[in-house]
Amino acid sequence: MAILTNNTKHCSKCKELKDLTLFNSYKLSNGTIKHRSDCKACRSINQKLRWKSKVRTEEDKLLASNKAKQWAIINKSKQQAYQQAYRSTERGKLKARESYNKFKSLGITKLQTKKAQRKLVDNLSDGYIKGLFRNRVNSLNYNEVTPELIDLKRKQLKLYRDVKKKTNTCS
Ligand SMILES: [Zn+2]
Repeated sequence: MAILTNNTKHCSKCKELKDLTLFNSYKLSNGTIKHRSDCKACRSINQKLRWKSKVRTEEDKLLASNKAKQWAIINKSKQQAYQQAYRSTERGKLKARESYNKFKSLGITKLQTKKAQRKLVDNLSDGYIKGLFRNRVNSLNYNEVTPELIDLKRKQLKLYRDVKKKTNTCS
């Protein structure tokens, strides 16, 4: 049994005698340091429960998802680190396995989709070129990309690729 000293305190929730460092502290305006009545572990459990029981509308969810996306754009390296950490957790591994199984059940392997994508790019398919107009060049709608426009773009891309090949063999 732990000995009651100035550095320990009973948690109001779990009633355990714990070290003061295991309680969140706050400062009063007169400078005195106070500790919360419940310990960090109890507080964390409580907060998780409150978060889970919170009722969210579709609008709330959309707002939160947009906020997260924006944050990820601004903090790219942080986001990548978080993602890496998540992938190494049990939950992250489970989610990865789930999506892999979903993929597998459709009879598609990753290599196949990569190969299929590669083929579309190599052959300068209509769909690939349409995608370029939509994503990068000037965000046209699909129905605004005419066959003539696609043909022109295809010629331009072929030219670029030929030039690139030539400069590669020269250097
Ligand atoms: Zn506690």
